[in-house]
Amino acid sequence: MSGTTDVFETAYRHAREYMGSIPQRAVMPSDEALQKLPLLREPLPLHGEPAADVIDQLHNFGSPNTVASTGGRFFGFVVGGALPVAIAASWLASSWDQNAGTWVLSPIAGDLEAISGEWMLELFDLPRDAVFGFVTGATMATFSSIAAARSALLRRRGFDVKKSGLADVPPIRLIMSEDIHPTNLTALGYAGFGTDQIEFVAVDDQGRMIPKKMPSLDNLSLVMLQAGNINSGASDDFEAICRLARRAGAWVHVDAAFGLWARVSEHKKHLVEGIERADSWSVDGHKWLNLPQDSAVYFCRDGEAVHDTFGVDATYLIRDSNRQGNNFTPELSRRARGVEFWAALKSLGRSGVANIVDETCRHARSFADGIEQAGLEVLNEVVLNQVVFRAETPELTKLVLENIQNSGVLWLGPTTWKGEYAMRISVSSAATSDADVQQSLAAIRGAVSQSKV
Ligand SMILES: *Cc1c(COP(=O)(O)O)cnc(C)c1O
Repeated sequence: MSGTTDVFETAYRHAREYMGSIPQRAVMPSDEALQKLPLLREPLPLHGEPAADVIDQLHNFGSPNTVASTGGRFFGFVVGGALPVAIAASWLASSWDQNAGTWVLSPIAGDLEAISGEWMLELFDLPRDAVFGFVTGATMATFSSIAAARSALLRRRGFDVKKSGLADVPPIRLIMSEDIHPTNLTALGYAGFGTDQIEFVAVDDQGRMIPKKMPSLDNLSLVMLQAGNINSGASDDFEAICRLARRAGAWVHVDAAFGLWARVSEHKKHLVEGIERADSWSVDGHKWLNLPQDSAVYFCRDGEAVHDTFGVDATYLIRDSNRQGNNFTPELSRRARGVEFWAALKSLGRSGVANIVDETCRHARSFADGIEQAGLEVLNEVVLNQVVFRAETPELTKLVLENIQNSGVLWLGPTTWKGEYAMRISVSSAATSDADVQQSLAAIRGAVSQSKV
């Protein structure tokens, strides 16, 4: 066993060193590190090497070539850091190597999914009898919800999709905003829907669907809303649109990849009011909750639709009264994602989750103020954790962004807002501190003056 112990000790030592180095290091890999990456491209080894040596090499080439998104100064996309307790839980869960597919394969994985799923229904104040499935990300959470929605809408019209397939069913109508996150279109594609089938609805200045521009709905309509526009952070009008949908017998899905967490904050929950009226919701763990990557969940009001879609029955998959995780997800074998959700929620509690939301939103507000003082223009109403901004011209915006990235202090991405090139900050990492914001603002000011020379 000493070889085994060695390899874990090596990994532990490197991981500790890596995490300790994050606050000081540049957000992106250095050129020097990137230049060493090609050294990994060698012919397939004929013979093996000692495990601890492999881990050493992984650290030597790998750690310097990571993006420091677990730190406090990565603001690109909407990514989120990773809480130490969640990383630690993930280490332990990795050593368990549990298959969360069925309860008998892992009682602990099964129970922690059930517990954390129920906790989240309470935390988000969604219908307590909604079902849930643990998946890789919001894209798959949305796909799972769409598959359930399709099954439910067609079942109400007398079709059993699982049995008869989609060849002779009436067409489902798809209604969503012009500003829908593109992964929703990907998810629709997995379910066999194309973009030509979508009835796009015009949006207002913050990217919210305009309820008055909605087409009239019917009981074959699938309406897809957003909590947390990827640029502005704004949310659709759930009250008004869900009321229209309910009256027509339509299904409402909400892509709430990060926005659902706003519901936990006393200061922000009004932004997602009425979200509980929808039929299904997708939300990431790996963004605002700061779980390690590859972690999301969807919730669905209609358990029967989920069972019709994902319910698996085979004699060898022993059924008992416990929750069988694979009856709610596209996969059978899965890693035990519930472990990290449980550890994070247990360690934070409701107040800790709310605190992450409030603090990151406060930092976004500081960014917006500091950015305007630096002579840049903030383009969105900064209601949540997202800030969109630009310089006077697209060329200058591009140059400022380049200079910001070159500073190494922080990283943020480009975006298109209302057809124009802009920059976007998303404060989603629990690791971001006041000092990180001040240091980043100083780098932004530096980049602005550098660009004007
Ligand atoms: C990130 C994001 C997605 C995609 O989520 P993944 O977890 O990357 O699959 C979808 N919608 C919104 C609004 C997002 O922010």
